[in-house]
Amino acid sequence: MNNPYLLLTPGPLSTSATVKQTMLRDWCTWDDDYNLGVVQPIRQQLLDMALATSNCDTAYSTVLMQGSGTFAVESAIGSAIPADGKLLVLINGAYGQRIAEIAEYLNIAVVTLVVAEHEWVSTVALTEMLASDADITHVAMVHCETTSGILNPIERYAPIVKAAGKVLLVDAMSSFAGIDIKVADLGIDFLISSANKCIQGVPGMGFVIAKRSELLLCEGRARSLSLDLFCQWKTMEDNNGKWRFTSPTHVVRAFQQALTELVLEGGIEARAIRYAANHQTLIKGMQAQDFQCVVEVEKQSPFISTFVYPDSELFDFKKLYDCLKEEGFVIYPGKVTATPCFRIGHIGEVYPEDMQRLLTALAKHRFWEQEDALENVSA
Ligand SMILES: *Cc1c(COP(=O)(O)O)cnc(C)c1O
Repeated sequence: MNNPYLLLTPGPLSTSATVKQTMLRDWCTWDDDYNLGVVQPIRQQLLDMALATSNCDTAYSTVLMQGSGTFAVESAIGSAIPADGKLLVLINGAYGQRIAEIAEYLNIAVVTLVVAEHEWVSTVALTEMLASDADITHVAMVHCETTSGILNPIERYAPIVKAAGKVLLVDAMSSFAGIDIKVADLGIDFLISSANKCIQGVPGMGFVIAKRSELLLCEGRARSLSLDLFCQWKTMEDNNGKWRFTSPTHVVRAFQQALTELVLEGGIEARAIRYAANHQTLIKGMQAQDFQCVVEVEKQSPFISTFVYPDSELFDFKKLYDCLKEEGFVIYPGKVTATPCFRIGHIGEVYPEDMQRLLTALAKHRFWEQEDALENVSA
């Protein structure tokens, strides 16, 4: 059961054979084997991970949610904000934009602070916005904006949001478990992530780690039955981990295995070191091959990197994609609007040696330099 290529895409990503193997067994959704043996331990483990390095605050709980990551985000946004509430979204990419779009779909009053994809929203602008619009009740932000790979400084924003007395929601989809996030210390009210990013599970479920007091306030607020975060939580709490509707059992069991493998690796700290090593190997090699990064180094996350297209008429992303796919690597198209670019993810069951192999493959296929080479020959 060999994979034809390594996924250098930030979700779904390459998973271990042992994670995939756990999906060969079927589970009964109301049996204790599943609920007490799989679901509840997962909920607890996520909580422990989220609070491990915070000044431990046990006032949090975990809710698992069916669907891709966006379903979990929509569930949190649609359940947390009351009918008379107003959401402020900090935006520097497509995922921040998506949060604002969710709010619009759900008829939630929403305002935004938008900057370019390689920049951070300024803390001054955030402070001023909160001071000037007293109607704002909730603030949402993306931690690693996967559009570019920029890592937004939640440790700078969170104190401002909390000092203003607002509820804070963080989309930590592509960062949770890949870097330490002090959830309780930062006062994050809702943190949202999914199975198929840094935890290295398979796609099909997301989760929300939230303050119990805030979850209780969600009762009756949801704009959607299936995405009602409060009901989902209440059902899990009251029934030893039973999901409200059919749970993606194989995905959940694979997720449990992925969590076990995260612990075996040495926890978030060890994983963060591996991802940083992947990132460093890639960046150094890409720079040596004349590729430029879209995001400046200090703002770049260790999860995914964006590179500007080479300045050559002969460059064609699809052609590069096909060449690398042939060599066993799948990369990602770019999403930054102002700059033609492509992305390479470095999370998942991927190691610095894989980055090195990718760089070797890339060096073999510099087809966009052919014209220069010809010119040099004729000169
Ligand atoms: C992956 C991701 C999501 C969720 O995307 P889905 O395609 O719904 O899984 C949301 N936010 C960020 C920042 C992401 O990286």
